[in-house]
Amino acid sequence: MSIEKLLSASHRYGSDEGFVLLGGGNTSYKKDGVLYVKASGMELATIGVKGFVQMDLASMESIWGNTYSTDDDEREQEVLKDMMACRLEGENARPSVEALLHALLPFPYVVHLHPALVNGVTCAVDGEPTIARLFPEALWIELVKPGFILAKIVRQRLALLQEKTGKTANMIFLQNHGVFVGGESLEEISTLYDTILRTIEEQLVRKPDFTPLVMDEKKRDAITSTLEMLTGKRIVTALNQEIARYLTSEKAFAPVASSFTPDHIVYSGFKPLWVDERASVGAEFGEYERLYGNGPKIICVQNTGVFSVGEKPLPLFLDTIKVSVYTESFGGPLFMDEDMIRFIRNWEVEKYRSTMASS
Ligand SMILES: [Zn+2]
Repeated sequence: MSIEKLLSASHRYGSDEGFVLLGGGNTSYKKDGVLYVKASGMELATIGVKGFVQMDLASMESIWGNTYSTDDDEREQEVLKDMMACRLEGENARPSVEALLHALLPFPYVVHLHPALVNGVTCAVDGEPTIARLFPEALWIELVKPGFILAKIVRQRLALLQEKTGKTANMIFLQNHGVFVGGESLEEISTLYDTILRTIEEQLVRKPDFTPLVMDEKKRDAITSTLEMLTGKRIVTALNQEIARYLTSEKAFAPVASSFTPDHIVYSGFKPLWVDERASVGAEFGEYERLYGNGPKIICVQNTGVFSVGEKPLPLFLDTIKVSVYTESFGGPLFMDEDMIRFIRNWEVEKYRSTMASS
């Protein structure tokens, strides 16, 4: 059974943090006019058959004939409503926001992941020329709004490619996001992923050094209790060789001070809080809250360590660090621009994922 194969592949990719973290990434399978696609908020590592939503491919195709509002919020709501209507009868879950993109790729299997190595290229200043050089047959998509707009652009680019070369693309690299790989079988996709990761790794001038370091106990305990009081949540801490490098000064911290991809925003917040070692953590936390309406999920204290509000923000912040180190090999880090960060922060879809993530 192919859905079983999809399940075991999803578990395999989902449990390997080199491929994807927490609820990131999604997989799909097409058969007899039906798309089986991951439901929003599910984690690949633990997904069961019920975690996949069955959708009618012909109805999904008809979405492209519809006209939607030019307003971001209205458009996304209209598209979501139409997407929900494409589900087969009896389906209750909400399909992944990337379902439309899965539907239009002409492959029975599609695996979409956010490997740190890949994002070391997609989130780098020289991302586009690097992909063109390493994977000339792949498609590169510049930074565009995820969801409907992204699917629409990919659809146009595939049509253009078909017109020019008579071919389709089985690898689509998305700036500040990740990669989509399609194939006739999951084995084929697995081989493609191996090639992608190996090829990028061969280009690296430096790798992240995650050798653990011990945090100053007195400082750690004092900051932890301040943050626990402020947030009412458990505080998780981290310190390693690489973190220590970024924590020496605000200037050294700049390459990890913003967000690379939508998942980083959803799980670890759009911006970590930087605290100078002479400043008060409580006062800086309050200032951040006043400025942005919410407290930070990640607090970085100069020459001390990283403090995560709850368990989930930390892995994505550590991923930010890995991605940033990898980008050094490809022209340096390139964060999402302010407009895109604002869009993601206000997007209902990501607010929905955020609530699922913190529950
Ligand atoms: Zn994604």
